[in-house]
This record gives sequence, structure tokens and C-alpha cells, in this order.
Amino acid sequence: MQDNELQRFDISRRGFLKGSAAFGALGLAGTGSSIWFKQATAISAPTVNEKKVRSVCSPNCWQTCSHLVTVRDGKVVKTEMGPFPKEDEEYNRVCLRGLTHVQRIYHPDRITQPLKRVGERGSGKWEPISWDEALNTIAQKFKDTQAQHGKESVALYGGSGNYGILNGGFGGILRFAGLLEGSVYGGSIDEAMLHGFSTVVGGPAFGATSNEPVDWKNCKVLILWGSSMAESQVQSTKFINDARENGCKLIVVDPRFSTMASKADLWLPVKPGSDPVLALSMLQVIISEKLYDLDFVLKSTVAPFLVREDDKKFLKSADGKYMVWDSVSRTAKAFDTPGVKPALEASQEIDGVNCNTSFVLLKKLTDEYTPEKAAEICDLPAEDIRKAAKMFATIKPGGIRGSMGIDRYYNGDIIGQGIATLLAMTGNFGKSGNIQNLFFGPFELTNPGWLFPAGTFYTNKRLINIYDDVDQGKTKVLYAMCSNFMNQLTDRNRWIQEVLPKLDMVVVADLFYTPSVKYADIVLPVAHWYETEEIVMGGEMPFFLYRHKAIEPQGEAKPDWEIWKGLAERLGFGQYFQGSPEEQSRAFIDDPAFKKAGVTMEKLKRDGMARAFPRPFIPYQDGFKTESGRVEFYSEKALTYGQELPYHKWPIEAGPDSPEAKKYPLVFNTQHNRFRIHSTYCNVPWLLELSPEPTVHVNPKDAKERGIKDGDVVELFNDRGHVVVKSVFSEAIRPGMVNLDQGWWDEYYIKGHHQELTHAKIKPETTNFSFSDVRIDFKKAEEV
Ligand code: SF4
Repeated sequence: MQDNELQRFDISRRGFLKGSAAFGALGLAGTGSSIWFKQATAISAPTVNEKKVRSVCSPNCWQTCSHLVTVRDGKVVKTEMGPFPKEDEEYNRVCLRGLTHVQRIYHPDRITQPLKRVGERGSGKWEPISWDEALNTIAQKFKDTQAQHGKESVALYGGSGNYGILNGGFGGILRFAGLLEGSVYGGSIDEAMLHGFSTVVGGPAFGATSNEPVDWKNCKVLILWGSSMAESQVQSTKFINDARENGCKLIVVDPRFSTMASKADLWLPVKPGSDPVLALSMLQVIISEKLYDLDFVLKSTVAPFLVREDDKKFLKSADGKYMVWDSVSRTAKAFDTPGVKPALEASQEIDGVNCNTSFVLLKKLTDEYTPEKAAEICDLPAEDIRKAAKMFATIKPGGIRGSMGIDRYYNGDIIGQGIATLLAMTGNFGKSGNIQNLFFGPFELTNPGWLFPAGTFYTNKRLINIYDDVDQGKTKVLYAMCSNFMNQLTDRNRWIQEVLPKLDMVVVADLFYTPSVKYADIVLPVAHWYETEEIVMGGEMPFFLYRHKAIEPQGEAKPDWEIWKGLAERLGFGQYFQGSPEEQSRAFIDDPAFKKAGVTMEKLKRDGMARAFPRPFIPYQDGFKTESGRVEFYSEKALTYGQELPYHKWPIEAGPDSPEAKKYPLVFNTQHNRFRIHSTYCNVPWLLELSPEPTVHVNPKDAKERGIKDGDVVELFNDRGHVVVKSVFSEAIRPGMVNLDQGWWDEYYIKGHHQELTHAKIKPETTNFSFSDVRIDFKKAEEV
């Protein structure tokens, strides 16, 4: 068994791709996978021994579709869409990827027994060991490390590869980590834009949620800003299409001519990283032409609140109330004084201090960005900027779905502030038909009593700090699950050369020999979603779902919860991991918040799902979670880092004024591919037939300047690393940038890996990875 596994791993896909690149034999990918397909689907004819089980697909596409799984003679043979109740049938959905689980479960590269490393880290040499040996080794290492280096030095990382409560990255792992009193790495991905947005509307980044998708059909003008949702959030796109059929105008802001751009009424191919200027310019048009919603702006935003010029803070009364300029008495008064008529625009000296309303400050800032000025910076026609602003301000209700294309810059939070300000000036918050970025499902509905049963807590560490933590000896052991971190995190060469050698132990729990598994000391085989039972948190839908177990795990694989249980028993807190998965799931929702929401086990088991909010969920109808209770487009909180208004700053590397710009002229962008979810599904034969290898999309102008022909194999490089990959000419890509689908495992590249090119520079306020704030150049690969 071991030999076979090692042999499969050693048959390098790089070697195959070298051949396919040199001889154009791409069709071989299909040939190879069809052999796998026959193996995976060698099933018996229908028998009476057949059942349909309701399960849940739970990758990080954020869609968590309900599945009906056909099991015949104990084997999964088919997946279908699992229907929702009639009143919520809009959430009926399944995608091509979700239909391929039979090939994931029975994949010949499935890890089916625990493994111990016997060669160098990264050499891919292991030997099988028993579960007892694996768990004893890990538990002892946890104990020894915590005794020697402190509790926090043992760190767990649960990625987003499973939304299950017991087995995913949000539930069981946290219960275990609290009892262990260790550390948990989290955050740092997809938070910058939301950080900026929540600076304006209040609450945590992932609490700044949109109206729920069934309400989107009421939207009449929508800006999709940096969103490749037709690739990344296929099922949510359906709700946008519903809005379009209902007459919604669509504006797409994207430097690429994306699938959604091809459907737009207006496409704005903005220069990468100049998005805040576009937002400021749209605000300039809206403000200068008085297209704003005066009533909302005066009553629900800080626009009339006076700001002191000396310390830039809000002017407050002796009893701490925000002050406004009363246009009747022409004096400063507390905002809630009976009969006060706050002026929108006022600049006055009050008690010897010059003060302006927030609106005046915003107006002054936006005045610098007329469409003509912004056109030069954003490389867009001024008329299109003006048109977009007028469309957005005059058609109601409107929404802006800011997404991850604008998030992944060092200064990705600024555009979040800009988007929230645009929504506020147009008075769209709290209305049916409004869309704000993403809908976060029932993320905030949880059970702290279940997560932390003994009142203990783990140390929360930001993922982007892991490089420094390991370097400084603060983290000595890493246990990763639901995550392919060596494929998905930035600065891969730093991981290999600096981080991994300083870790005393790396444990990876996974289904396949991913690039992360390659670097593990102990590998734990985990169960597939269909092999487990638990509650699943809905992604971009307002439900919890129930996953029934369809089949037994393959080989010796175990659900992650079982692994936590085995470790907990060895570490002295096994009593918190007893009971069946159903009993633990029941315990998780045994909380007044779930009762109030009507989420019961009976409903979950009977229907497969339970709604967590009344339909339709529309946020902000009862105000904002800011200190003032209003939209704080002028943010005192952001004063400390000079961002009280959405001032434009270029990305630190991708911007035209960066030191790297002189050496590396091209911006490196990565996007989602509709045949994978990040790196999940990367090795599925059916999907590889449709998307057989990575390709970099380049504008023909940039390619020809470098003597590259369409289809040439090229090397993308910068000071940090390289990746060798086939090129595809595409007019859909702006000159000056290249575009590569993220998520491909290293073995699919001819050489290198796209994460060798990225970096982990930390903006202290957001601590978010800046995957697209990267510059490169490319040339024809010398040796293929
Ligand atoms: S991959 Fe995502 S969209 Fe596709 S079926 Fe699974 S949850 Fe649904």
C-alpha cells in the first residue's frame, strides 16, 4: 500500500505537462482521466439495496448546496440537487463541481491511512502507521511543546475547506483549541475591503452583511466591483440574473473583460488598484450635482456632525453629544436638540475652534476627483465615470457588490470605505433591493457555551503573522486541517526556506496528497463530507443544514471530530468529545439564540435545513453598529492611521509609483476558476477534462513586446520566485497586467508555483494577505 501511494505521488504531473506543453498533447489529460473515471464508476447495476441520503456540499465557494446522494450497495453512485422547502425553493442548486464527488471519494490518490514522514520534509516519503501511533505521537508533542515553550506555541489552523460544525474550521477545532489552551490561526483572507466597509457601518468585518439573496431581484441598479462571481459564486449569480430579468441595470468594474462584464450595461475596465479614485469621482458627481438622498444623509449619516479642525475629532457637547450647526438659530447645538435643523454644509468657528461638517470635508476631498481627473488616474473615459455615477444615484434601489478582486491589495480597505460612502449618499441602506458586498449567512449565530465548555479560550492569532511568529519562536507546532496552506498562502519560498524548518512538527489532516501534505511530518486521513454527520453552517444563504452520513469513511479515514476526540482523550479532556455526532450537533444548537431563530434538530433532520432569519433578511433597518449609530463615512476610529475619509493610496507594489514598478512592469492578478474552489477539486478527473492545466492570460501587446507567441510556455518571475506555465493571448486582459487562475497545485505547473510570486507584507490595520498587490515580468521559458 505504501509503495503504491509513494509511486503514485512520484509519477510527477510536471513531467506530463512538460510533454503536453512541448508537443501540444493536451488531450492526454482527458485520456488519463477517463481511465480514472472507469475505475471510480465501476459500479453494480441497480439493486434493491439503494438509498438516497441528504448531504451538504461544503467547500469555500460559500454556497453550501444541499445534495441528494444515491448510495447503492454501500457505494456513492450519484449526486443530485437536494431540494429546499417550497417557500424557499430559490435556494435549490447544485453545480458541476458538486456532481463530481463520486470521483473525489473513490479517487486513487485518496489517503486512507495515517502516515509518518521518513524522508526529508517535502520529499514525499512516508510510511504507514496506526492511528494509535499517530495520535500518541501528536498528543505527546503537544504536551512537551506546551511545557517547554508555553501553551500558545501549539497552533491549530482550520481553513475554510469545510463548513461543518463538528468537522470544519469553525466549530470542533475551536472547542478543542480552547481546552488545549493553544493558539488558532485565522482571518487575514478576504477581510481588507470588509474592514473598510465596517469602519463606516460598524460591527465586525464579516458582520457587515448584505440583504439575503432572494431579495436581490428587487435591485434596480447594481455595481459589481471586482467580482468574478460567475466563476467563484456560481449559485449566487442566479440571483443577479433574476434581478437582471427584473430590469436591473448592471455596471461592472473590473480590469478584465469578465463573464459578468460581458453581461453589463456599462463596463469600467479600471486600472488595477485605482478603484478608490473611481469611487471618489462618482461621489464628486453625486455631490456636485446634488444627486444624494438628502433625507437619509441628514438623518442616518454623520454628514451634519461638526468636526474640529484642531484634532479632527467630532465636536461634542459637555455631555458627549455630537454637535451640528443649527441653520435656524445659526448656532452649534446637540444633534438631538428639539427643533434643531442641522445644516449639511457649514464651516464655522465655535469657541475658538474652526469646525466643518463631515459633509464639507467629504465634498472637499471629492472635489479633487472630477471625472476628467479620475479618468487619467483610472484610465477610463470620463463620460463613463459620470454615467455610472448618475445611473447609480438616480435609479433606486441600488446595490454594490464589492468583492475580492478589490480586497487583495495592501490598501484594499480604502475601497470598502468608498463603497459604503456611495451606498450612504444614495440612501440605499436598509431597503429592499439593496445589495452590499456579500451575504454572510448565519455566521453570527453560534453557541459560545458549546464552543468553550470549560470557559477556556484559545489564543487568537492572525494568519498573516505566522511567518514572524515562527521566526520568533512563538509557534513551534502547526496542526492544519481543512486547509491547503502551502498552496494558498503567499510567499511560498519563504514558507519552504524559513518557516517550515523552524517548526518542530507539522501535522496535516486531508483527503489527498496536496502540496501541504507534502511538507507534513504526520499525515492524517480524513473523511469526505458524505462520510460524516453534522450540522453545516450556510454560506451565502440564511440556513443551517443537516448532513446525514451517506457511507462509511474509506479505508481508515476518520472524521476530524473523531480525531479531536482521540487527541482529547490522550490530553486529558476527552469527556468533552463524547457522544454521537447527532448528540453533539443537538448540543450545539441547544442555545436560546437558536431556539429564537427556530433552528431545531427536528426541522434540520426532517427537511435537511432550517432558516435562521425571517424571510427576507434585510440589515440596517434598525440602525448601524457604529459609535454614533449612523453611517460614519467620516471615521474617528480611522484617524489613527490617517484614513478618516477614503483617501486614495496606491497599492504598495502593484501601484505605478512603487519601487518594484520600475523593475517589474506587470501587475499579477489571480482569479477563481469555475472548475475548482481555491485548490479543492484540483485533482478531479472530470473537471480536469474541462480545465486540464494552468494557463496565464496575457494581453497580446505585452506578449509581442517580449517576443512571445500565443501558446508559448513562459516564465513569470520577480525577486521572490517564478512559475512556468503556458500562455494564452487574451484581449480581455488589460495591457500591463497578467491573469492566472489561482488554486492549481504545484504538480500541475511545469515549474514553480504562483504563490512564489506573492508576498506577506502586513498592513497593521487590516492584517490581510495582498494576493494581487504583486508585480512581475515574464519571458519565454528557456527550457520546457
Ligand atoms: S461546489 Fe459549491 S456551488 Fe457547487 S455544488 Fe458544491 S456547494 Fe454548490
